[in-house]
Amino acid sequence: MKKIAIVGGGIAGLAAGVYAQNCGFDTTIYESHTMPGGACTSWKRKGYIFEGAMHWLTGSSPKSSYHQLWRDVGAINDQVQFHSVDPFLTVECEGQIVCLYRNLARWQQHLISIAPEDDKEIKRLCSDLSDFSKFSMPIKDLKGLKLRKPIVFEKFNLLKFVALLPAIIRIGYYAKISSKDYARRFKNPAIRLLLRSITGDEYAATATVFTLATLMNGDGAFPDGGSLAMAARMAAKYQSLGGVIEYKHKVAKIVVKEGRAVGLEVNDRQVDADAVIITQDAAVATQDLFEKPLSDRWVLQMRNTLVPKSCTFLCVGTKADLCNEPKSGVFIAGTPLKLGDCQFNIINYHLYSAESGYAPGKGTAITSIIGGDSYDFWKNRELAGTYKQTKEQLAQDFIAVLTQHFPHLKGQIEVWDVATPLTYERYIHSYKGSWMGISTVGSKMGMYPCKVRSIENVYFAGQRISPPGGLPSAVNTARTAVQHLCRDFDVAFG
Ligand SMILES: Cc1cc2nc3c(=O)[nH]c(=O)nc-3n(C[C@H](O)[C@H](O)[C@H](O)COP(=O)(O)OP(=O)(O)OC[C@H]3O[C@@H](n4cnc5c(N)ncnc54)[C@H](O)[C@@H]3O)c2cc1C
Repeated sequence: MKKIAIVGGGIAGLAAGVYAQNCGFDTTIYESHTMPGGACTSWKRKGYIFEGAMHWLTGSSPKSSYHQLWRDVGAINDQVQFHSVDPFLTVECEGQIVCLYRNLARWQQHLISIAPEDDKEIKRLCSDLSDFSKFSMPIKDLKGLKLRKPIVFEKFNLLKFVALLPAIIRIGYYAKISSKDYARRFKNPAIRLLLRSITGDEYAATATVFTLATLMNGDGAFPDGGSLAMAARMAAKYQSLGGVIEYKHKVAKIVVKEGRAVGLEVNDRQVDADAVIITQDAAVATQDLFEKPLSDRWVLQMRNTLVPKSCTFLCVGTKADLCNEPKSGVFIAGTPLKLGDCQFNIINYHLYSAESGYAPGKGTAITSIIGGDSYDFWKNRELAGTYKQTKEQLAQDFIAVLTQHFPHLKGQIEVWDVATPLTYERYIHSYKGSWMGISTVGSKMGMYPCKVRSIENVYFAGQRISPPGGLPSAVNTARTAVQHLCRDFDVAFG
């Protein structure tokens, strides 16, 4: 049996492990942390669980091409319930409330009732969303791969493609404009804010409209137990297939002999392997895990074009029962939060109730994401010895902003926590603590090759291999990496 070493036990590493075990390989995952999941995680403080990653799962709907992949790797099964929060988002701006409903007709009606002045743009957007929701992200198989059983993904259909042509042309329009500039096409300030809040200002508007189409299509629900439970289910499936996870094992180097990977250096020892699958952020792994940084064309392109998506993640646990408030919302703060020279007055929040196990008593776990690349800001605070104080100050400012918005929080806060890009960097060893990329105007999407020319038997998977990243990229690249492995070792996939 061929021995495969997998670097990293995040979603890509676990998925690669499941696929490879199913194909008859003998795999071990080396994970630097003490638990599976990587960026896809949550953590507990004083009885409150802070959901640290997934807000929606592309592939929750059986109609989505990703659904089967998630089932393959044990992330979901018939027992896992999904929650489709509706409205998905509630935005409060200048005295108006605008909701993002998951039903397109309802949403269109709601938007027009709020902003008749935007009637034309609203109808155009909703008509495009109706077309975009017919797209299904293609899951491809490698050419020349032996299959144990036929794979049932939809084959290319010329007629369907022709029917989609008008929508494909419209994609070009959204790809050329940032989501912020696209939002400016609407006169109503609340609608503008909603459109800017879906993915963030830096993204091309394609990300906004495809996220909307996902939600309108009945996809993008939240699985029971969130990020950590999903990672735990995958780890259990992997181990049930005979896979081994070595926690607290940080891989230092890939051992290469005569142009071929033959093992790993990990915890001061060498482990032999017939092949290696690397799921650490490829932007870092291609630099750090080899004698010399890899310089294949795609590797250089990946590094040169990478726009990291990271965040400062704010968490608050409160005794207050917020069950009558929107589950996810955006509002404008009276006093902006500050990170150095950057000010943030658009505040997003997610509320997780006691009912779903996230808080004790009748309390609520609250999380919020401050986007933007704040890596250097936090690094400088660390160097200056003021990292902890700055986190504390930010948490207090955030609590003040929240209490202004939800007055019944006053005196009810039990715990807070702040994770910065440095926290993510420490835990997942990614580029600037990022956990995916940003699809800016003109940026490349698709999948980088999972292999390099210079070294045989090394395969790459993970969010960075398929920009802009996220959970679907992690599982799909893992599947493709294992398909490469199967083809190279003349093993049937399935
Ligand atoms: C706040 C937040 C919100 C998010 N929201 C969503 C969402 O709603 N939907 C969505 O699809 N995605 C979301 N994501 C992104 C998603 O969670 C990640 O893109 C995905 O989990 C990445 O998986 P991965 O396996 O590719 O990488 P990682 O999770 O980075 O996994 C890599 C693993 O390798 C380990 N590792 C690294 N280096 C080494 C080494 N040298 N030796 C041993 N182990 C190593 C790390 O510890 C880690 O466990 C969110 C992420 C965050 C943080």
